[in-house]
Amino acid sequence: MKHPMKHPITTPITTPITTHRDREPSMHPRSQPAPHELWDIGINLGHARFARDRDQVVARAHAAGVHTLVITGTSVRASREAAALARGRDGLLATAGVHPHDARHLDDAALAELAALARAPEVRAIGECGLDFNRDFSPRPDQERAFRQQLELAASLGLPVFLHERDAHERFLAILGGLRARLPAAVVHCFTGTRAELDAYLAIDCHIGITGWICDERRGHHLAELVSRVPRDRLMLETDGPFLLPRDLRPRPADGRNEPAFLPHVLAAVARATGRPAAEVAADTTATAARFFTRG
Ligand SMILES: [Zn+2]
Repeated sequence: MKHPMKHPITTPITTPITTHRDREPSMHPRSQPAPHELWDIGINLGHARFARDRDQVVARAHAAGVHTLVITGTSVRASREAAALARGRDGLLATAGVHPHDARHLDDAALAELAALARAPEVRAIGECGLDFNRDFSPRPDQERAFRQQLELAASLGLPVFLHERDAHERFLAILGGLRARLPAAVVHCFTGTRAELDAYLAIDCHIGITGWICDERRGHHLAELVSRVPRDRLMLETDGPFLLPRDLRPRPADGRNEPAFLPHVLAAVARATGRPAAEVAADTTATAARFFTRG
């Protein structure tokens, strides 16, 4: 069955309140330019830190031009919640997957539930899945098995994959490379690796997700130098909220929570790093995300 592409909510352009002073010829025009239209391809909207004001978070995102949010599924439970949050709502989509941290919990029943979730029209990718040898919250053999199983699931359903890799490039590339030809598309989300790693992912036709990591003047400097290497039709933007608040965001929210409304800040950093106009980066990343997350 074919599911029509949902139309993202068009950004409401706030009509400035006209006062007598505004009409005086000496005053500058008060209307603000419409924000750039963006997709946040990785937002953990089901996270407990969004529990108290989730609807306002979505409203603020839309007001900031971030008209489509792809809610990341990180476990079977989180994927169920992500799909429930996105169901029937314009501008919200979801992924279904099990993060490498949770890989040891991916048994046959969990895999079957993921497969069932993945058939829902609002679920547009399998993931996040992959390998994380930085924290090793799940044993590495479990991580590799769960990664392979989810890639197989995506291949069997014809869905793209949303991938997480940390300190595991060699094994990750070996496993992904073996199945890549059977996957319609694959994005390495929150890429923070080296130039050689980036080139290896691009060589097997991966998309690259860039977060506010690029705004970190200590850790993200190399990323700013690398981002120009990503072809324009392979680059997408994400906040990974509530995590990864851009370090140079001002004013900083008191609770340090990242949210999709801050994505224009990441856009600006990518525009600076690539020397391209923000409007162009916005249009390209939005078109790329719309293609990537469309169900075939
Ligand atoms: Zn991740």
